[in-house]
Amino acid sequence: MTDPFAGWSVPPVGITGSPLDRADHLRRDPGAMVALRSRPDARWLVLDELKPVLTQGDPANILWAYRSDVPHDAVSVFLGLDGEAPRFAAAASGADLVADFGGRIVDARAAASLLGDGRAEIIAQARSLLDWHARHKFCAVCGGQTVLNKAGYARTCQACSAEHFPRTDPVVIMLAVKGDHALVGRQPGFPKRFYSALAGFVEPGESLEEAVARELHEEAGIRVNRVRYLASQPWPFPSSLMIAAFAEATGFEITLDDDELEEARWVTKDEVRAALTGTGEWFAPPPMAIAHTLLKAWVEN
Ligand SMILES: [Zn+2]
Repeated sequence: MTDPFAGWSVPPVGITGSPLDRADHLRRDPGAMVALRSRPDARWLVLDELKPVLTQGDPANILWAYRSDVPHDAVSVFLGLDGEAPRFAAAASGADLVADFGGRIVDARAAASLLGDGRAEIIAQARSLLDWHARHKFCAVCGGQTVLNKAGYARTCQACSAEHFPRTDPVVIMLAVKGDHALVGRQPGFPKRFYSALAGFVEPGESLEEAVARELHEEAGIRVNRVRYLASQPWPFPSSLMIAAFAEATGFEITLDDDELEEARWVTKDEVRAALTGTGEWFAPPPMAIAHTLLKAWVEN
């Protein structure tokens, strides 16, 4: 039988590969949730103002707290099962954990780059969910108060019963390629000599292919023919889904949108290889970012 995916090689994607089973069927069962919270092997990931508490050791790990370490009134969401062991996340102060267990409160982006083996995705899941709860205390329909529901995967309005669900905002991130060259750009505010693939939010009523073509034209004046999907990753700052693609450019001429980009340039595979290994004239995004995967896939395929 012919392999339908033959010829596709996707390098590792950061912030993916969570070891947890999200166990969606348990979220709708309040009795099951009470039982899971009471299990002796239940543990909580504490986020202090959206910053996860990690262990002090090297390599870094998530500091999984006991139920007794988490305040009763903390917003708590179900992350899933690690084997049979329930895992939750809670928004609470991390000061006591730091004092009692020698933990440390780490910026979520730094934590995601420190953690391997899919644990960065656990941080992503927890951060996106808890941030959403913090910003959706009131109903977008009637302004009434909402309460957490479905173990953290919904909020219900107490006044009009409308249900609200956590958002995921799609962002296309794309490498325009033509012949032996690919297009990278710099946003104002990027670190010095740092270049990445171009990116932008998908708009309502738009396909991913159309968003790729529109963003490349808006930001760099580049027109494209074919668009090919590569891979995706969650980007929990606050709740994006990055969708990486290649786009076949029809020409090399760049017309910059100065508000979006400070500079854009066509680069060769040799330049990208050097950038990915930190030996070039410019820097590429780190392995945690899917732009890294996209650039790597281009030079490897
Ligand atoms: Zn309402």
